[in-house]
Parts: sequence; C-alpha cells; structure tokens
Amino acid sequence: MEAPRIGIGSDLHRMVLGRPCVLGGERFDCEVGPEGHSDADAVLHALCDALLGAAGLDDLGTLFPDSEPGNRDRSSTEFLAEVCARVRAAGLAPASVDLVVHCDRPRIGPRRAAIRARLAALLDLPVDRVNLKGKSLEGTGGEDEAVSVLAVALLVQAPGA
Ligand code: MG
Repeated sequence: MEAPRIGIGSDLHRMVLGRPCVLGGERFDCEVGPEGHSDADAVLHALCDALLGAAGLDDLGTLFPDSEPGNRDRSSTEFLAEVCARVRAAGLAPASVDLVVHCDRPRIGPRRAAIRARLAALLDLPVDRVNLKGKSLEGTGGEDEAVSVLAVALLVQAPGA
C-alpha cells in the first residue's frame, strides 16, 4: 500500500458589490460576491489545488487558465469534477479534506452543514471526512472586502489501483 499523500491549497478573491455569491458550490443571498473570471468560488478553487497538490499534478490556474474564454463565469463544480477525474486517473482517491474560510460576508456558519454535504457528494466521501470552518476577518480586512480560503486534502491509493 502506497503511503497517503497530503496537499494544501489556498485562494483569495476580492468581494465586490453585485457579483453572484457562490462558495463551496452553494449560492448565498449576499450583497457582495467573489470577483473573478469563473464563478470565483474560492472554496472550490482552494480545494482543487489541495487535491492537485496531493496528487502531484498541476495547479488549477494551469489547468483552467483565465485566458480561456470558455472558463468565463464557469461553475467551479465543473473544475472540481475534472480535478477528481484526474486524481482517480492517477490511481488515487480522497480520504479526507478540511477547509477554513475567512470572510466577513457572507456568514458561513449557517450554511456550513449544506456546504459540507455538497462537498462530500462532489468528492464521493462520507460527510464526516469533509470539514469546513467559517471565520470572520476580525476587522482586519481594511476597505477591500475579500474571501480567503485554506484547504488541505489527504489522498490514498484508490481501491483496486
Ligand atoms: Mg480562485
């Protein structure tokens, strides 16, 4: 049995007025949303980079560049599905992931269970192998509002690989 592999990913997006607010694949009713080329779902972006990092593959920006018009406003759940396919193709499978989301708006706490369930479904993992914590910026955000996400992922050899 090959040793487990760990990966880390992070992402940071400015939060701006009038952008749709999608984090962890969940749509929030919020005045501000993450600015970016795709749907700018910083939770899924950080998670993708953690999975790719653990698998020794490329990073999200290389796989899905901003310069590619087809990626404009694209749902990041599609990015995660593609990343999971590449991880499986490498003979690996997610064993657990953990994430920390820093932002002042939206409040993550009330939607935490829904995001965990969604990520667990996307990763084909039991919900107790997927965790996520929301934290405020404690007044350190300054004038520019932002969302910052840190993710770690543990991969193991896929059954039968
Ligand atoms: Mg991003």
